[in-house]
Amino acid sequence: MTERLSAEEFDRNYERVSARLEAALKKSGRDRGEVTLLAATKTVDPETINYAIGKGITLIGENRVQELLAKADHLVPVKQHFIGHLQTNKVKDVIDKVEMIESVGSLKLAEEIEKQAARRERTMDILLEVNIGGEESKSGFAPDALFEAFETVKKLPHLRVCGLMAIPPITPTPEDARKYFRKMYQLFIDMRGKNIDNGNISVLSMGMSGDFEIAIEEGATLVRVGTSLFGKRLYQ
Ligand SMILES: *Cc1c(COP(=O)(O)O)cnc(C)c1O
Repeated sequence: MTERLSAEEFDRNYERVSARLEAALKKSGRDRGEVTLLAATKTVDPETINYAIGKGITLIGENRVQELLAKADHLVPVKQHFIGHLQTNKVKDVIDKVEMIESVGSLKLAEEIEKQAARRERTMDILLEVNIGGEESKSGFAPDALFEAFETVKKLPHLRVCGLMAIPPITPTPEDARKYFRKMYQLFIDMRGKNIDNGNISVLSMGMSGDFEIAIEEGATLVRVGTSLFGKRLYQ
């Protein structure tokens, strides 16, 4: 956790992000209530995060367990998602700290969350992460393995699958990411079609600082924004 962001700088950034969000919603004929803004807070210090919450940020996301734990006690109450790669042996550390684990990309991880949730007699909300670009280096279910995985995970009684999440490949322009967002939306719709009780399947988490407008145009219900809110230098 490095340099602090000034209040003025955050205010300016937040205003810009809000304007971009509004413009994307307008362009796609969607309501503000249809899309949740998650502030990705990696490398951001708790004071800055608390300031952002005071300004109206209602949901934050961390992608590293150590960092999440280090900050947890210093934050004002706020909803939090886990959005990064999660090792099975760390599930027990984060499960009580977050409302949702977005990045469930293997059955092994789903089964461990089930085990820890059962032990606590609670239900854990999760998203299935899809490796939409078929990248070697990325975790997540392959698109053609998704529905089989969904059938299995659906049967775990302490998990509630709420939808899908993806981090598409880095593309030269935001526009180039559209095809991945479109594929994700199709999977999301197919998933809803396959689920009788499809009220649960309501979250499509995709789009980051560089491309969240395109993601919104293609049906995202949750966008995860870091750099555009907190500045690039905080990310090294
Ligand atoms: C850091 C991060 C983001 C935000 O990325 P920016 O490009 O900084 O907006 C979104 N999702 C995940 C999983 C991240 O780790």
